[in-house]
Amino acid sequence: MAKLDRLYAHEILDSRATPTIEVVAILDSGDYGVSSVPSGSSTGSHEAHELRDNDPNRYLGRGVLNAVAHVNGDIAGVLVGKNIDSIAQVDQQLLTLDGTIDKSHFGANTLLGVSMAVTKALAAAAKVPLYRYVAHLATNTQPLFIPAPLFNMINGGKHGAGNLDFQEFIVIPNPHQPFTISLETGAVIYQNIKKILSRRGAIHSVGDEGGFAPNLFTNLDALEVLQEGIAESNRKPGIDVELGLDIAANSFLKDGRYVIKDRSSPMDTAEFIDYLRDLNNQYHLRLLEDALSEDDWRGWAALTAELGSVTTIAGDDLLVTNPEKVKKAIAEKACTAAVIKLNEAGTVTENIAVINQVRSAGWKIIISHRSGETNDTFIADFAVGVGADYAKFGAPARGERVAKYNRFLSIETELTQSPK
Ligand code: PEP
Ligand code: MG
Repeated sequence: MAKLDRLYAHEILDSRATPTIEVVAILDSGDYGVSSVPSGSSTGSHEAHELRDNDPNRYLGRGVLNAVAHVNGDIAGVLVGKNIDSIAQVDQQLLTLDGTIDKSHFGANTLLGVSMAVTKALAAAAKVPLYRYVAHLATNTQPLFIPAPLFNMINGGKHGAGNLDFQEFIVIPNPHQPFTISLETGAVIYQNIKKILSRRGAIHSVGDEGGFAPNLFTNLDALEVLQEGIAESNRKPGIDVELGLDIAANSFLKDGRYVIKDRSSPMDTAEFIDYLRDLNNQYHLRLLEDALSEDDWRGWAALTAELGSVTTIAGDDLLVTNPEKVKKAIAEKACTAAVIKLNEAGTVTENIAVINQVRSAGWKIIISHRSGETNDTFIADFAVGVGADYAKFGAPARGERVAKYNRFLSIETELTQSPK
């Protein structure tokens, strides 16, 4: 049985020059795990608590020294020197120690950092790759495969330059092909989109998730650029590549109405669903994420009844990787897929439990990064281990995004050489 020899944390920076926590867990065998925690900006208001120092004299209040102190103090005090039966046992101890429903004592960021680092250390001690260890935790006995990537090519909303309402304009290579082929498709389309944006004089700086943040006028302009990018890459739309959107509708809901540039007047829920249906007829979207705001539950059920058989209706801010929200969404038939963000749930064990809950409804699983990321590739292994349908790690560009896609390449090679 493994014993935890050391556990400590320190502050590092994420991809947005914002502090986050890095945690190191070392077992008495010498096996160890290092993890770091991402952070969102278009956050759902019901997400678990992210602990920030709120000290205006450091990092604009965004420091995480209190989170670091919790790991080095209370948490290490309880876990170090003790035998570890399983990550489930450690996670339960963390939750008990925290003692709050929204994880506001330690912060979900603190809990996730410890949980991932210990999981990595236990995988190392078990002498298996992390994705196989996660498969074991998730009791996933199916053959392992690389989830289909969702490449975010154009960033709008809170992640972009401010003039596109929708947050993510996504291309989805055919999921029934090796990841290496999908990655090449994504990379080639990305390069061609860059050329198209240059030609149009729409400056192509990149947004938070590595997709371009162009000065296009409407959301439809951005979809058109994606279509052009696919054509210039000699890929067949609908066969080689499909389109998807993370609409992140919370960010443009004003006084209960949806306000977007493409329409001169604000839309109520029914009008916005009509708009989405027309959009889907025109662009044959494979994925519609957060198409309505997080509290528009009636709208979600109506949207799923309307479009759920032709496209994947994914709940992100709606569900916030929370079992109670997922339960409600299943009961109300509010979507057909869940976006899983590890720091919204807090521990590895809780994330796996939510995934099993989602799967029992027959929904698709999307494992997602956050807009503020680190080079930690935990979620790549996690996505493979739990048998996720899709992986959403941003554009095929910028180190913190590419690190995860590159990890998929390594796992794909390993799975090809030793599938069991
Ligand atoms: C998202 O909304 O899907 C997302 C990844 O953004 P954030 O991390 O800012 O919540
Ligand atoms: Mg989202």
